[in-house]
Amino acid sequence: MDDDRRRVPRTDAVLADPVLAAACERLGRPLVKEAVTAALGLVRDGRLDAELAAQAALSALPPTAARLLSVVNATGVVVHTNLGRAPLSSAAREALAAAAGCTDVEFDLATGRRGPRGGGALSALADAVPDAEAVHLTNNNAAALTLAATALARDREIVVSRGELVEIGDGFRIPELLECTGARLREVGTTNRTHLADYAAAIGPATAFVLKVHPSNFSTTGFVSSVDVARLATLGVPVVHDIGSGLLKPHPVLLDEPDAASALRAGADLVTASADKLLGGPQAGIVLGREVLVSRLRRHPLARALRVDKLALAALEATLRGPAPPVERALTADPARLRARAESVARVLRDKGVDADATACEARVGGGGAPAAVLPSAAVSLPSGLAAPLRRGRPAVVGRRHGRRLLLDLRTVQPEDDDALAAAVLAAQPGSC
Ligand SMILES: *Cc1c(COP(=O)(O)O)cnc(C)c1O
Repeated sequence: MDDDRRRVPRTDAVLADPVLAAACERLGRPLVKEAVTAALGLVRDGRLDAELAAQAALSALPPTAARLLSVVNATGVVVHTNLGRAPLSSAAREALAAAAGCTDVEFDLATGRRGPRGGGALSALADAVPDAEAVHLTNNNAAALTLAATALARDREIVVSRGELVEIGDGFRIPELLECTGARLREVGTTNRTHLADYAAAIGPATAFVLKVHPSNFSTTGFVSSVDVARLATLGVPVVHDIGSGLLKPHPVLLDEPDAASALRAGADLVTASADKLLGGPQAGIVLGREVLVSRLRRHPLARALRVDKLALAALEATLRGPAPPVERALTADPARLRARAESVARVLRDKGVDADATACEARVGGGGAPAAVLPSAAVSLPSGLAAPLRRGRPAVVGRRHGRRLLLDLRTVQPEDDDALAAAVLAAQPGSC
C-alpha cells in the first residue's frame, strides 16, 4: 500500500509538465487539474503507468474551456432543439468570433460618438423584409411575445383561439407566458374550430390585439378550421402573428409554413419569430411590423432586459447577408445527391470491414416548424450497437435508431463533414481507440 502510494506522483508535479502547462494557458488551470486528478486516480488503481499520467490527462481534456461539445447532427431532424437548433454558417461563425472582442456595436467609428445598437443586423433584416415598416430584435421569440404583450396589452385583453394555445417545449406555454405580463387572455373558439365570428364577438374596448400563433410543433387534421391573417385583419384591431419558425419569405419546400412577408402583406400589424429555427441563424427574436407598434416595443423599459447580445447581432447579420446557412442547405438538398453521398460513405466504411450500407429514409424539419413535412433523404445504415460509442466520440455523432440499425441521415450532415463522419464511425468500432 505504502509502495503504491509512493508511486503516485503529486498533482502539482504532473501539472508542471510542459504539455499540461500549455493546456493551462488554453483551458485554464481548474479543468486541467481535474483531468490530472482523474488520471492520478487511474495510476492509484494500478490501471495507468505513472509516467503516462500527463499524457492521459492531456488526451482526456475537452477541446475548449466550455463543456459544450461539438455534435454531428445525423438525426435527420433539421432543426434539432436538443442539439442547439440551427447550426450557424461559417460566415456567421466568423462574424461571431470577430464580434467576440471589442466591437463597434454601439459606437460610430466615423464620428467617435455613441451609435445605434445593432444597426447592421437591423438593416439586414429590414432589407430582407421590405414589407416591414420597422424591425426590432430581442433575445428570442418568447421575449418578443413577452415584450409585445407587456407593451401593448398590459391590463388589457389579447384575443386568441383555443386551438393556438401552444406549449413550446420543456413545459413552457405561450398562454402562461402572455398572462405573466399582466395581459388577460380572451380565449375564443374550440380546440379544433375557431371562426371569424368567435373573434368578432370577443372584441371590445378592452381588446389590445388579436394574436395568431402558428402551431409550429404539431398539426391537426380532420374537422378543423382556423381564421387566416387576412380575415383577422378585417376585425379593426391590431393583429399580432407569431409565425414561430422565422421564414422571412415563402419557402419552396415548406409550402404550408407561414412567412413574415406574406403575413405582413396579408395585414398582420406585428410579426414575431425565432431566428434560430428555419432562418438558420443564432438565438434571437425577430419583431417586424408597423412603426407605431414596433416603436412602442422598442421604447418599453422591458426591451432593455430582453435585448439581443452583440454575438447574436453579428451572427444574425452574417446569416441574413451571407451564404445560405446549413438549415437552408439541408432543406433544399437534392435526394439523389444525398443518396450518392450515403453510398460513398458506406463504401469507405465497408472497405474497412464495417457492416455499412446506404438506405433511403425520411428526414423531418423538427422543432423548427412544418411538423407534417417529410423530406426524402438517404442514410448510412450501421449496426445499432454503434449508437453509444458514436455519441461518446469526439466529435460526438448522433443518429437515429431504426429497428436494429442506426441510421446516419445525411440530410442534416454538411457535405464537408462526410469524411469526419466516416472517421468517427471507424473510431467507434469495437477495439479501435
Ligand atoms: C419556437 C416558438 C416560440 C418560442 O420561440 P423561442 O425563440 O424559442 O423563444 C414561440 N412561438 C412559436 C409559434 C414557436 O414556434
